[in-house]
Amino acid sequence: MTLPTPLQHWLHNARAQRIAVFACMLLYAVSPVPDFWITQLNYIALYSLVILGLVLLTGIGGLTSFGQAAFVGIGAYTSAYLTVNMGWSPWLTVFAGLFITAVSALVVGWITLRMSGHYLPLATIAWGLSLYYLMGNLDALGKYDGIQGVPPIMLGSWDISQGRSFFVLAWGLVLLGVFALLNLLDSRTGRAIRAMRASVLMAEAMGVDTLRHKIGIFLIAALFASVSGWLFAHFQRTVNPSPFGLKMGIEYLFMAVLGGVGYVWGAIGGAVLTKLLEDQLQVLLPKLLGTSGSYEVIVFGIVLVLVLKYLPDGMWSLVGRWLPKPERVDDWQRAALLPERSKPALGETVLEVTDIRKQFGGLTAVKDISFHIKAGQIVGLIGPNGAGKSTTFNLVSGVLGLTSGTVKFRGETISGLPSREIANRGMSRTFQHVKMIPEMTVLENVALGAQLRGNQSALSSMLRLDRAEEQSLLREAARQLARIGMGHALHEQAGNLAMGPQRLMEIARALCSDPSLLLLDEPAAGLRHKEKQALIGVLRQLRSEGMSILLVEHDMDLVMDVTDHIVVMEFGTKLMDGTPEQVQQSPQVRAAYLGMEH
Ligand code: ADP
Ligand code: MG
Repeated sequence: MTLPTPLQHWLHNARAQRIAVFACMLLYAVSPVPDFWITQLNYIALYSLVILGLVLLTGIGGLTSFGQAAFVGIGAYTSAYLTVNMGWSPWLTVFAGLFITAVSALVVGWITLRMSGHYLPLATIAWGLSLYYLMGNLDALGKYDGIQGVPPIMLGSWDISQGRSFFVLAWGLVLLGVFALLNLLDSRTGRAIRAMRASVLMAEAMGVDTLRHKIGIFLIAALFASVSGWLFAHFQRTVNPSPFGLKMGIEYLFMAVLGGVGYVWGAIGGAVLTKLLEDQLQVLLPKLLGTSGSYEVIVFGIVLVLVLKYLPDGMWSLVGRWLPKPERVDDWQRAALLPERSKPALGETVLEVTDIRKQFGGLTAVKDISFHIKAGQIVGLIGPNGAGKSTTFNLVSGVLGLTSGTVKFRGETISGLPSREIANRGMSRTFQHVKMIPEMTVLENVALGAQLRGNQSALSSMLRLDRAEEQSLLREAARQLARIGMGHALHEQAGNLAMGPQRLMEIARALCSDPSLLLLDEPAAGLRHKEKQALIGVLRQLRSEGMSILLVEHDMDLVMDVTDHIVVMEFGTKLMDGTPEQVQQSPQVRAAYLGMEH
């Protein structure tokens, strides 16, 4: 069956989709569904808010937290305490709760997120446990009995913390949260978060402050949980520690995984499935087993294992593909061009490397290497395996710290600066092993390179106030892709590209930062003959446009073909440097390479 064109068009329009979802929510509230189903969905809304935060934090950002229930607790307890004991209005306490949540999340995040690996999950477990016992032991919070008599949320004289009005309040907030997250993911900040998950090294090289972004998503997830806690306190009209313990923290994560932790809508799917499953099991299991008890926990455990094994992307990976996708509109074509930095004049020294040295314990990987690059030059860095080329590359780009020596870029000393600061000054790089966000389009991947040329915040992206800048960033990405001859592949998924186009895409991404110097780490590795020819064409063209390039490369033919000057390394030292002809004729270089081949 095919739908009429205007209806199809409407179905695929992002804004129309959102209005439709919102309208369905309101229709449900006024429809004659039994109150039981309204109550069920009210609980589901409370869960969904927390899981939305987990989608951002865990599904997109790759950081696992078992402690979200504790943030729900902070929102709930703050509001309960301030309304009951201080007589504050719930409309004020929601902000008090958000404030206390933000301070706690920043402290916990600041301490744990600088450590890598499993510290965050462990720390969030400790955090969840300690907050639970704190709530249970403080006299002021009523110990394990909690706080009773929490007042309702009033809109004038209308109690909106129960039944259908609460449904509209809670689901209104859930949908706002969904839309805000969808907006955030489709923005400069969203790309930065995804890049951070793909590779911290790559994200930093594109100018992303990864620690700040980690703390940022941890904060946003905590704030979502806090709002859920505020709603919960006034919906239940009482709070006690048990819904905010570690068990619930694990359950939130369970719901997120079940729904599909990588999908924003999956958050709601996971909450719905869990609630329905729980209800059914509570009725069914005692009948089957003949006894009552919390056997549903065991079934949940089994379901989780099965989901992780057979459907690791969750239920939404099945459901989502049947829903109409919002259409991508290329609305950036007439966007304002980004300002460009002043470029060095042809022949000016861009990079000056003096006596750089790197020691790894007892091994000196790079011994007092010096060379320089002038604007409009392609300088090759070659040498047998283990000669110290990659280490030199990393010393120049700021990935590794120098043991001694200096690196000057456009006349300023840059040694000691973090790689994102060096990127900010106009040095941009590619990677020996391509690092990209495979599930995003080529255009979006390349736009990541323009990260430092935008300054819209996460909040303005959530509110969709970043569109003018976003369009300029996308237009720049499209321009750079056209520059290297990939203008036809903008909307392809990056992960589906062959190796050659992937490497070219990385060059376009590096160009997007408006660099004065490009560092390319083995751009020809793994390329077929035709792809190599395309690469040579691009390098020549870039040089003719005045770009300076440092090229670390294995492929001799390519190096001899495109470079103006070559630095040959062996065992960490500079064997010689000169023009391609001089290098080719050097007996030393031949000996080094022959030695390698033996
Ligand atoms: P190339 O890129 O020329 O093949 P590298 O710069 O990768 O060479 O390595 C130079 C030497 O330094 C090698 O002996 C390598 O084993 C050593 N090396 C590189 N990185 C490290 C590290 N992080 N720790 C210890 N040794 C290293
Ligand atoms: Mg190497």
